[in-house]
Formats: sequence, C-alpha cells, structure tokens
Amino acid sequence: AEQVDPDPTKKTLVVLGTGWGSVSLLKNLDTENYNVVVVSPRNFFLFTPLLPSCTTGTIEHRSIMEPIRNILRHKKASVKFYEAECTKIDYEKRVVYAKDDSDVKGDTMSTEIPFDMLVVGVGAENATFGIPGVREHACFLKEVGDAQKIRKQIMDCVETATFKDQSPEEVKRLLHMVVVGGGPTGVEFAGELQDFFQEDLLKWVPQIKDDFHVTLVEALPNVLPMFSKQLIEYTESSFKEEHIDIRTKTMVKNVTDKYIEAEVNKPDGTKEIEKIPYGLLVWATGNALRSVVKDLMSQIPAQAKARRGLEVNEYLVVNGAENIWAVGDCAVANYAPTAQVAAQEGAFLARLFNTMAKTDAIEAELQELSAKQATANPDDRKVILAEISERQKQLRRVKQIGPFSYSHQGSLAYIGAEKAVADVSWFSGNIASGGTMTYLFWKSAYLSMCFSTRNRVLVLFDWVKAKFFGRDVSRE
Ligand code: FAD
Ligand code: NAD
Repeated sequence: AEQVDPDPTKKTLVVLGTGWGSVSLLKNLDTENYNVVVVSPRNFFLFTPLLPSCTTGTIEHRSIMEPIRNILRHKKASVKFYEAECTKIDYEKRVVYAKDDSDVKGDTMSTEIPFDMLVVGVGAENATFGIPGVREHACFLKEVGDAQKIRKQIMDCVETATFKDQSPEEVKRLLHMVVVGGGPTGVEFAGELQDFFQEDLLKWVPQIKDDFHVTLVEALPNVLPMFSKQLIEYTESSFKEEHIDIRTKTMVKNVTDKYIEAEVNKPDGTKEIEKIPYGLLVWATGNALRSVVKDLMSQIPAQAKARRGLEVNEYLVVNGAENIWAVGDCAVANYAPTAQVAAQEGAFLARLFNTMAKTDAIEAELQELSAKQATANPDDRKVILAEISERQKQLRRVKQIGPFSYSHQGSLAYIGAEKAVADVSWFSGNIASGGTMTYLFWKSAYLSMCFSTRNRVLVLFDWVKAKFFGRDVSRE
C-alpha cells in the first residue's frame, strides 16, 4: 500500500513485536480501520519451530525469516513499521517509548509513540534463574543470532580439539556438547547435533569419533514433560540408541567457562555436586519475563499478583487496563507458551478489532439516524425508524463475538535420527506416535506451516542440499 499520513478520524493501534502473536494479528487485521504502527527490534518474522535445524546448517537461517516489510506491503492501508525496542509502556499517558539500538546511529535514537489501543506481543526472555555464569558462558537458542553463534561454536570446538598437541583430556572437554533443559528446545537441539555428528562431522573429521559426545541435562525425573508417558519413554530410548546421554534429576547450579556444576539426585536419596566439563553449552530452560512487561505490570494494581506474565481476560484484555491487549509468551491465559497459542491469539484479536471497527461505524450511523428522525416529518420518520431497527439488529449480530478459545492441534517434536514424536488431536481422540512416519509427518507439517511460499521453497532446497552434499562445516 502507498504511504499515507495517519487519518485523524481513526484510532491509533500500536503493535509491539513481530513474532508469532503480533504477525498473526497483522496478517488477519483489516488495517483500513486503524492507524497501525508496529514497533519491534526485529524487522522480520522468525519461524521458530525450525530454528534448531539452523544450528547445524541443516537449514540456512534466512530460509525461515520473512521480512516484515514484505508482510506489511500487502496490506490494504499503510502500516508504519519502526525497527526499535519499546523500552517503556506508560499506561496512564498512553504512550510507548521506543529506542533505536541499531549499529547505524541517526540523530534521533529514541522517541515517544502515542496510542489509543496497544497490543503487547513482545514474547519472553531466556530464563536463567539467576544461576551464575549462564549469561557469560552459555549459548541460548531463541533468536537467529543464537543459532549462528552455536553453529560457529560447534565447529570451533571441533577445530580446536583437533589442534596439534591438544591433550586427550582437553579433547574430551572440547568435544563435550552439553545441553541444559529437557524441554522440546533442548531435546530438538540435542537430536539435531547428534545427526550432524553422525551424518557429516564423522565423515569430514573421523578422528573425533570416540570423543564427540552430546549430553542433555534435566532437573526433573524425565524430559518432554508436556508429552504423553509413552512418547517420553520412546524419546529416552531413542536417545540411548543414538548415544545421546540424558542426565535427569540433575540441576545445574553454577556455570564457569569450562565446566558446569550440577546437583545430582542419586537413587539412594542423597545429593551430590558434580563438575561436568564442556566445550559447548546450550541453555534451554524456558521463559522469563521481559523488563518492559515487568514494568507495565508494576503500573497496574490489578496485576499485583501476576508472576508469569500479563494476566489477561477471555478477550485478551490486560486485566486492569481496558485499552491494552496481550498475546503470546508475555501473556498468561492458562495456555502453554507456544507458537500455536500465540498465533491463535493474534488471529482472535484481529477478528475482535475488525468487529470493533464495524461496531463503531454502525453506532455512528445510528446516532446520525436518531438525530434525523427527531426533526423528520411523519412519513420520513417511519422510514428512518425502520432503518434504525435494521441497524440495531446488525449491531447485535456484529457484537456476537465470543471469547477467545484455544483449539489444541497437538504437540510435535523432532528427536533426531529421522524420528519425531507427536501427540495429535484427531477428531475427538488423541493419537500418540513416534518414529520415521511421524518424522515425515513432522517435515510436511512444518513445511506447510512456513510463513510464505518463498520460505517453503527455501526450506525444501536446504533439506535437499543437506541430503546430497552434507551440511557445510566451514566456520563463518
Ligand atoms: P516471539 O515470537 O518471541 O516474538 C516476540 C517479538 O517481540 C519479536 O519480534 C521480538 O523481536 C519482539 N520484541 C522483543 N522485545 C521487544 C520490545 N521491548 N519492544 C518491541 N518488540 C520487542 N512453539 C510451538 O508451538 N511449536 C514449536 O515447534 C516451537 N518450536 C520452538 C523452537 C524454539 C527453538 C523456540 C525458541 C521456541 C519454539 N516454540 C514453538 C515456541 C514459540 O516460538 C513461542 O511460543 C512463540 O514465539 C511466542 O510468540 P510471541 O509472539 O509471544 O513471541
Ligand atoms: P521448557 O520450559 O519447556 O523446558 C525447560 C526445562 O528445563 C524444564 O524441563 C526444566 O525442568 C529444565 N530446567 C530448568 N532449570 C534447570 C536447571 N537449572 N538445570 C537443569 N534443568 C533445568 O523450555 P523450552 O524447551 O525452551 O520451551 C519453551 C516453550 O516453547 C514451551 O512452552 C515449549 O512447549 C515451546 N516449544 C515447543 C516446541 C515444540 O512443540 N516442538 C519446541 C520448542 C519450544
């Protein structure tokens, strides 16, 4: 759409973030009804389900990124996008503060953006639970930059381990790949990494055969707590076959540059602190609140008891703030923090906002009609009253939008060695499956869920490329 100035007769809708929640809202929103402003430090949407595949080069990261400009240019009315981070939301003043933190510095680096309506879709941060050393020494797996860093570090470990005169002990440490967190992120990454080793690294660097080792560390008694018992067992036995070590009941307490210290719960009930040396450490222990969200919560008395995120009602309105909505990982609506939930919430808000705009238009017309009928002659009045009743009926129909309800399509995760696990809802029943067929299902499901045809083609090419030529082991 061509660039046009904001229309003073329309409300300003500010959307924070370009992740699953916000982009799903933008995709479905009739942007003609509002002056829409999007603020996000990331000028692209990222298809997170395939991010673990980028850490080993099975997929190139650009194949799962979709520029936000590309998404917005297809909208009917212009939408403004600012690549900036929202540093503060002032709820009373109805403004957000945005800071441009890019490498290229302009004269203006920060500004205020007023809003009539605000959607918070800023996602979450990586949880570290204040454990010392995590931020300094571990890699996370949330953003494109994280995957690139991991990819580089895997090769760095391999090249350094094979340096002339490296001691056997140091070789073992450098080739020990430790993953902390047995949620789906940790499990998928461990699987991808072992694949990389089996399918490519062994071919190119055979001397690391006996020393390259992947260990998954989990505090709870089992991995993948959101999956059914049968699939947990399947994953654990499949990891065993692939020679990935799972260390359950092992809670990391401290991280240094060369080893982690973990508290191990032993079968006899005693606890022991163990030092585990590593070359690469990937930290995937779930979500924590972003500071901008924490700050907003502190401004709203109704959020005083909220802990895990912005508490919202069944219409996704932030409790205690009638003109602010929240979607995705930063909102607490009794659902898991997943892409599936965020996308459905975003689509729901789009429907709600499209409806609200229609309602406003009908209400304005109704007001005009009732003013007209007050001064009209009896014949005209009859016609106007009929029209009013028609409009009122229309209004009631439009207003009938029910609250948000989440429809769970199932859980799906890749576990390496061309196997996947799936708990899928099928009509009224549930199907739990694991194995190679599930892997093909996983592949086709994720391919079909990719944002655009362009993404789909790129991912497909990457898969074919990796299959025929192997993954690229050059370190960038
Ligand atoms: P995000 O998608 O994280 O987006 C947040 C957006 O806000 C980003 O654009 C960010 O740049 C922006 N932002 C951050 N701070 C600010 C700020 N201060 N101001 C403005 N903007 C800001 N879920 C599934 O359902 N299935 C899967 O297979 C799956 N796989 C995953 C794999 C990985 C490796 C990871 C990390 C997650 C996975 N998830 C999966 C979870 C899923 O990605 C999240 O639940 C989902 O991204 C949440 O969407 P969101 O819109 O809340 O946040
Ligand atoms: P998670 O919260 O699902 O799992 C984190 C795990 O880390 C937990 O099992 C926890 O017990 C463990 N942990 C925490 N502290 C620890 C410590 N100090 N030492 C050892 N273990 C520790 O986190 P995630 O895997 O990053 O997933 C985040 C969200 O994204 C979840 O809602 C998940 O469902 C979703 N996700 C889904 C998929 C998928 O569906 N395929 C993939 C990735 C992420």
